[in-house]
Amino acid sequence: MARRGAAAGGDVCMCQTVFPAHANQRGELSAGQLLKWMDATACLAAEKHAGVSCVTASMDDIQFEEAARVGQIITIKAKVNRAFKTSMEIELDPVKLLSTEDQLEHTLAIERRRIRLGYEQLFQNLMRESNKEVIFEEEGAVSTDLTYVQSIELVQPPHANHHGNTFGGQIMAWMEAVASISASRLCRSYPILKSVNMFKFWGPSVVGDRLVFNAIVNNTFQNSVEVGVRVEAYNCEEWIKDQARHINSAFLIFNTVNDKGELLTFPRIKPTTKDGLRRYHGAIARRRIRLTRKCMLSAKQDKPSDPWERSNQAYVSYSNIAALTHLAAKPGWEITRTLDDIKIWTHEEGDMLSLKVEMQVKIPSHLAFSLLSDFRFRQQWDKHFLTCEVLQAVNEDEKIYYVTSPPITGHKPRDYVILVSQRQPCKPSEPYIVAVKSVTLTSMPPSEEYCRSEILCAGFQIYSDSNSSCTVCYFNQVTSGVMPYLAANLTGSSKSIEDTALECIKFLELKDSKC
Ligand code: ADP
Repeated sequence: MARRGAAAGGDVCMCQTVFPAHANQRGELSAGQLLKWMDATACLAAEKHAGVSCVTASMDDIQFEEAARVGQIITIKAKVNRAFKTSMEIELDPVKLLSTEDQLEHTLAIERRRIRLGYEQLFQNLMRESNKEVIFEEEGAVSTDLTYVQSIELVQPPHANHHGNTFGGQIMAWMEAVASISASRLCRSYPILKSVNMFKFWGPSVVGDRLVFNAIVNNTFQNSVEVGVRVEAYNCEEWIKDQARHINSAFLIFNTVNDKGELLTFPRIKPTTKDGLRRYHGAIARRRIRLTRKCMLSAKQDKPSDPWERSNQAYVSYSNIAALTHLAAKPGWEITRTLDDIKIWTHEEGDMLSLKVEMQVKIPSHLAFSLLSDFRFRQQWDKHFLTCEVLQAVNEDEKIYYVTSPPITGHKPRDYVILVSQRQPCKPSEPYIVAVKSVTLTSMPPSEEYCRSEILCAGFQIYSDSNSSCTVCYFNQVTSGVMPYLAANLTGSSKSIEDTALECIKFLELKDSKC
């Protein structure tokens, strides 16, 4: 906690006891109350970072995993991951990064923002596709008209901050209340909020406003239902003239369980209007986006390396080359730094971060290939290689090496058992490939002395530019061993990646002149 407390900008922690007034019929903390607390904590963190009062502009998808019960104490932690210039409508200091963990969350914040910004486009594309799909009239389908619910709330001082702006969390709590009534019309038990999609506040509302909440079921899936809620605000004058201000829209996903806690199936629904049909397709598109995103953000990378055994050698070599080729071909590589002959690129995908170092070298590509594919030369230019010996020369194209590496401050030195697979191009336009990944060898178990480290996917692609020059691209999918170097590089506190690249160019060009 102490470390966290000292972290960038504004960390805020709030503890709350769940009292009966905060609970639903099942004695569990109501989702609406939780949304209020989450909003309040997030707002305080933003204010601690910005130094002025803040309101919630939007909330990312929220997933509810487990319920808290009356009598339990819950802790809500909020932390500013990243300050974007316009999202708070004030210029904010860039968040200072302290630890690798903070760096990772910071990187994820960029990813979430990209999805948020790309959401509209993705949604429109999916909607265009879904318009071509035909809906079959299903037997027993229930009309959505049954699920229409309206409710009106008057915003009073306790619902607003000291400027009179309604708390975002309060609006969300009201939305949840209306939506759960709508969902309950389709099931004979209490709906449970599972996730919320798109809380974007279009405009402010203030004390004295009447907030009108309209909710209807947009679609049902096997065990879940999507309820959409639209919130409009009127002050006294607007109320008479029926001039509404659109405040907010959100889509809430509920499921429901029986006494034994088993998920129940929702009936299929049939929309009755043109808008209803559009929303029916909208719900399908939102579900696809939600799943894609969940899949990306939950990708885990710390799986142990493949064992190197006779039965799977062909597969492991293939996957070594394939992984590097896929990584290199991914769209979305972004330049983060440029020196004369060196460019550093990064690639983000969920919680996976990769690095590419592009070097212009004045030697023929075949020579660069032969020098870079023999890892016994690597100590000559890469200070991260202390020792390197061949354990197995499987054939001309595959070798297993044992590598030791200097410690990262405060740790033991590291060691690696790696498979290096090399391939010549079939066509002149293709690159030479040297792919690297960790493998597990029974004859080389981890030792006390070293911290055994893993390389997921790394290596070189070498493109010929002319008879006497080539472009060498070094790739590395970031793991704990590389993360500190890259993090330091990204925040500008070290140039070790550029330095190693310069050494590599020098080594290659010097070898060439000796040849
Ligand atoms: P969209 O119609 O594109 O989904 P809106 O912001 O107009 O976007 O509405 C959000 C959701 O609120 C809708 O999907 C629907 O579920 C619900 N909704 C909107 N208007 C009404 C209404 N008049 N009656 C009932 N529900 C409504």
